[in-house]
Amino acid sequence: MTFLQLGLPEELVVVIEKEGYERPYPIQLETIPAIIAGKDLLGIAKTGSGKTASFVLPILTNIRKRKTLKNRHVNVLVVVPTRELAIQIETVFKLFSRSLPEKIKTLAVYGGVSINPQMIALQNVNVLIATPGRLIELLESKSVHLDQVETLLLDEADKLLNLGFKKEMDSIIRCLPTKRQNLLFSATLNEEVDNISQLILNEPIVIKIGVEENDIDAIIQKAFAVEEAKKGPLLRYLITEKDWKQVLVFTSSVYKADSVADKLRKNGIEATAIHSKKSQLARNMALEKFKSGELKVLVATDLLSRGIDIIELPVVINYELPRSPKDYVHRIGRTGRADKSGEAISLISPDEEHHFKVIQKKMKKVVETLSIEGLI
Ligand code: AMP
Repeated sequence: MTFLQLGLPEELVVVIEKEGYERPYPIQLETIPAIIAGKDLLGIAKTGSGKTASFVLPILTNIRKRKTLKNRHVNVLVVVPTRELAIQIETVFKLFSRSLPEKIKTLAVYGGVSINPQMIALQNVNVLIATPGRLIELLESKSVHLDQVETLLLDEADKLLNLGFKKEMDSIIRCLPTKRQNLLFSATLNEEVDNISQLILNEPIVIKIGVEENDIDAIIQKAFAVEEAKKGPLLRYLITEKDWKQVLVFTSSVYKADSVADKLRKNGIEATAIHSKKSQLARNMALEKFKSGELKVLVATDLLSRGIDIIELPVVINYELPRSPKDYVHRIGRTGRADKSGEAISLISPDEEHHFKVIQKKMKKVVETLSIEGLI
């Protein structure tokens, strides 16, 4: 099956080919025709499955048939949990919409930056991508109206609800017209996601893509047993000795992310920390530099463990383990994306040994633990 056979217009297929997509991923085979047909959809899939293109392409195909709405109304509303994800989805919409003869305007709005430019930009927007808090502010100031929305999409619905956005989601949903297409994507299907899907979805097509298991199989996982005090030297050894183009290092606290990045820099390794205490501008700049390959090492808290797509990231290092096994899977899923393989290395202090066993049990995988003897 080709992208053209799925019902996408030729102009989009040209860009798809330029992007090097040879054939539709499984999720795209199912979602593209369903969304084009105007159906409601529940997609259980995580980043790495080709999920973004699976909704961007059919949404753009449908928008071509619709009129741009006036007076701060939008055709499509995409609600996401984080600013980074908003920016990433905006980029994919822009990449593909540029090829279409119709003028399709996409705008991402999120907190942590000034609201005024967003208010001004909210004219003739076809696709609005928003984090819940900022969207509510824009609704309250009447900078945007949602009563003519034709398609609603919630991405990473599980995270939206985990982060406590339930109340905001209820307020947003109340502003929408009753007749609309609803699309809901979530990495996991838990009770809360099930509740919201029952609330908003109308006879949905349900698509489950088991990427987590596939991803994990594609990732070479290793661990080093190492005293806490030797984690820094071991990290530096690994970064300098191995021939990795780029490394994403995870820590569990903001403080640790800063101190690990500082120490790397003091030792001549270019590194930047990214976490919730950094300004939005600093976060965007660090992410951009990392994505473009300019920055070799990014040290992040779990803020980045979901949703952010960095193509062909060869290795992820857990400087500290995350609390939940799910976050472990999300972290290591930053490597081995789509059909590429990757490496995930965890630095395990004696205090973390038990927790690491729990993670392995949950994941149903045994990870080889290596000794650092002779390395540092
Ligand atoms: P996503 O799950 O949306 O984060 O996508 C993961 C990665 O797969 C992104 O880098 C996409 O550009 C890429 N991608 C999406 N669909 C395809 C496809 N059909 N063929 C090859 N790469 C793709």
